[in-house]
Amino acid sequence: MELKQYNMQFSLPPNLTDYQSLYTSFSWERERENLDGLLQGGVNIAYEAVERHAQSPLTDTVALRFISKDRTIKNITYGNLQKLTSRFANVLNTLNISKGEAVFTLAGRIPELYIVALGALKKVAVFCPLFSVFGPEPIFQRLSRGEAKVLVTTTSFFEKKVKLILDRLPSLKYVLLTDASQHINEQVLSLPRLMEPASEHFIIPDTNPEDPALLHFTSGTTGMPKGALHVHKAVLTHYVTGKYVLDFHFGDIFWCTADPGWVTGTSYGIIAPLVNGVTSIIDEEDFDAVRWYSILEDQKVNIWYTAPTAIRRLMRMDIYPMEKYNLEHLRVILSVGEPLHAEAVLWGEKMFGKPILDNWWQTETGGIMIANFPSMDVKPGSMGKPLPGVEAAIADVTDKDFRIIQEPGKQGNLVLKKGWPSMFRTYLHDEERYKKCFRGEWYITGDLAKKDSDGYFWFVGRADDIIKTSGHMVGPFEVESILMDHVSVAEAAVIGKPDPIIGELVKAFIVLKPGITSDENLQMDIIGFARKKLGPAVAPKELAFVNELPKTRSGKILRRLLKARELGLPEGDLSTLEQP
Ligand code: ATP
Ligand code: MG
Repeated sequence: MELKQYNMQFSLPPNLTDYQSLYTSFSWERERENLDGLLQGGVNIAYEAVERHAQSPLTDTVALRFISKDRTIKNITYGNLQKLTSRFANVLNTLNISKGEAVFTLAGRIPELYIVALGALKKVAVFCPLFSVFGPEPIFQRLSRGEAKVLVTTTSFFEKKVKLILDRLPSLKYVLLTDASQHINEQVLSLPRLMEPASEHFIIPDTNPEDPALLHFTSGTTGMPKGALHVHKAVLTHYVTGKYVLDFHFGDIFWCTADPGWVTGTSYGIIAPLVNGVTSIIDEEDFDAVRWYSILEDQKVNIWYTAPTAIRRLMRMDIYPMEKYNLEHLRVILSVGEPLHAEAVLWGEKMFGKPILDNWWQTETGGIMIANFPSMDVKPGSMGKPLPGVEAAIADVTDKDFRIIQEPGKQGNLVLKKGWPSMFRTYLHDEERYKKCFRGEWYITGDLAKKDSDGYFWFVGRADDIIKTSGHMVGPFEVESILMDHVSVAEAAVIGKPDPIIGELVKAFIVLKPGITSDENLQMDIIGFARKKLGPAVAPKELAFVNELPKTRSGKILRRLLKARELGLPEGDLSTLEQP
């Protein structure tokens, strides 16, 4: 691939100016000194995110700015957030909820969700956010697997989705309704009524850095979602990545577009910006290109963290943002969740005057692990380099063997050396599966990648999605990237389809750009284009046009569903499937 490199221009010097020297000298212990810690020596996420700022000159700074559907703005300062979250922690006391018990939310991006999250962390309860779009069954599955003791939701969600599963959830003690003015019965209570008399003073109990804090269910891209458990110490990763990857400076306005139902919306939609003392924008609405551009302009957003699926949607529109909107404040644009094709990075450069910085992590890693840092040369299509404090490598992994691959450019499993603070501590009720993710000191991510001679990592695909065709191992990302280079193609996904002769044949599903009609000529043209670039062994042999690709709520293409449908097999868990 042709590599174009950039040097970014900055109005502000980035926090990380010399990657190599920070990587060499980095120490987690030293970074921990930038957190306050508790008097007794412990670490609590909510203390670092809220409490310490409320006792500092930041107290009147806006911590969270909510934009409602009708564009009404609601600001919560660090000082007010401290009081509100203390109240909720006291509500949990009143309800006799103990340390380590699980508090779930099922709500849109409303202020109560954020107050509950941080209040629960103060109380050292375990917080678990659910996507509000889940139907009753996925909600039941997660509440019961997570042994929820409290669920905070709205009256409407309660009526539509929770009421009918309540008697199957014997451990659920309370349902708190954010918008009910009266308690309904002994179990279903009004949150405002409980909050009103609660004291705004709460002393955070000593919190062991290893105390459980957050439960996140994975996206379910490759199968049944797994429950990854994280501890309070994770806040150190949130702090460090906020500082060096997102490049937070005091006074920054930050917008993470992810919903807290997905780990990005909690680690970076709640915790990291607060720990770093910046202002977060939270839009209660879903994606809308015009709305998004105007929020970037109106709110003078400096740092914008989004996902490839949204970027691809923006790429499909006929809008040149810099011509229509004043985006002079936008300093850093980042993307996570799926591979960001080189084409999207270059589009960002054309549209915003800066490349979009791709970074890689997983629910299991709790925070960003590999990134294109703002001061670094960007190689479009690459995930970048490991976070200082994180050792990443490519390994050959079989049932019996484990070998780190030293040669640059060789494909293998992406592995991380154990020990970063936000590493998950278990898969809920599946310790066996957790153990299988490790080989000695190394965590096996389940993703395949390559490392080039400059130390940049390149995503190849998920181990489960790899296609074995005529003796080749084909990563879907490579094929999809080429397909997306074709002028008519907006989105592409490829799968392996069993074939008696060549093992699997590569089949592509294509979404065309608006206004382009599919016909046999176009089909031949796209296959020909891919053959020329990829060679006949790797290029798709079959191609189908579709209106949309099936995706998870967090915007990931569900290749396993395309495959199941293609082969007429059971569709598996569809709880996270985005409904069009
Ligand atoms: P499940 O584990 O249930 O199948 P999931 O892996 O999609 O779901 P997440 O933890 O939300 O759940 O996603 C992490 C995965 O997303 C990574 O393992 C990787 O496959 C993909 N991913 C995230 N960021 C990137 C990126 N920048 N480039 C390529 N892939 C990425
Ligand atoms: Mg995964």
